[in-house]
Amino acid sequence: MADRARFGPAGVPPTFKWIKAGLEDIPALLREEGLDAFEYEAIYWGGKPQIKRENAEKFGLRARENDVWLSMHGSYFVNLCGDTKVVEASKKRLIACATAAQWMNAHVLVFHPGFYGRKPHEIALRNCVGALKDLVSSMKTLGINSVKLGPETMGKSAQLGSLDEIISICRQVDQTQLVIDWSHLHARDLGRFRTVEDFRKVVLKVEDELGTEAVQNMHCHFTKIEFTEAGERRHHVLEEARYGPDFGLLARVITEFKLKPVIICESPLLDLDAMSMRDTLKSLV
Ligand SMILES: [Zn+2]
Repeated sequence: MADRARFGPAGVPPTFKWIKAGLEDIPALLREEGLDAFEYEAIYWGGKPQIKRENAEKFGLRARENDVWLSMHGSYFVNLCGDTKVVEASKKRLIACATAAQWMNAHVLVFHPGFYGRKPHEIALRNCVGALKDLVSSMKTLGINSVKLGPETMGKSAQLGSLDEIISICRQVDQTQLVIDWSHLHARDLGRFRTVEDFRKVVLKVEDELGTEAVQNMHCHFTKIEFTEAGERRHHVLEEARYGPDFGLLARVITEFKLKPVIICESPLLDLDAMSMRDTLKSLV
C-alpha cells in the first residue's frame, strides 16, 4: 500500500516520447517532474507478455530507485462475462499481464471486467466472479502473489463495472484491489459528482463495505470526461471548465479522510495534469 497520496500518468507522456526516452528513463523523468506513480499500459497485449523479462525487471528497478509506484493497465481484450471461449482467452491475457506485472514489481493489475451482452446483470456478475476466482487460483499456482487484480469502475452502461459491482467482486475474490475510475462513475451515472458530498458518499460506502484499509489505499483514475446517455464518450484535459468532475472536490475529501490514494491521470495531458492534481491537493494540506 502507498505511503502517501501519489500521482502519475497512465502511460508514457507525449513529451517523453518527443525526446525518445526509453522505458528505463521514465522513472527518473517522472521524478524530475515531482511525480511518484506510473501506470504501465499493457492494453493491447494478447496471450503472452509483450516485454522481455529482463527489460521488465530493469524497469522495475529504476522505478524503485526513483520512488515511483508502479501499476499496470491490463489488456483491453478481456470479457469475463462472455462465453467460455472468450472467458478462457481473457484469463490467458490477464495471466500474461500479471506475469509481467510481477517481473516489474507492479502492485496492481487494473482491468475492465467485461460486457453484460444479453445476460441479466446478476448473471454477468456471477460469471465474472467465477472466472476471477479461477484466475486467482492459477496466479497462485504460478507464484504470482505480489500483484493484486484491480477491477475498475466502468464508464458505459453496457459494461459491467458499477461501483456496487466492483465492490461485490472485491468482497468475493481474494487478491483483489478496488480501482475507482472517478470519471467513469461520473459518466456512467450521468454527472453524479457535483459537490464534495457526492465524493464523500463514495468514500463512506467503500469504507462501510470493504473496510478502512481499502478506502485509505484506493487506486484511482481521474480525468475530465464527456458523456452521452450511454455513458463515457471522451476524456478531456482538466482545464476544460465545461466538463466534470472537478478534482478539487475529491482533493477535499482526500484531505478530510487522510486518504493515501494512488491517482493515475488519464487526461490527454498525462503528466502535466497529474502535476496539476498533485498541486491542488498540496494547496489544501
Ligand atoms: Zn481502464
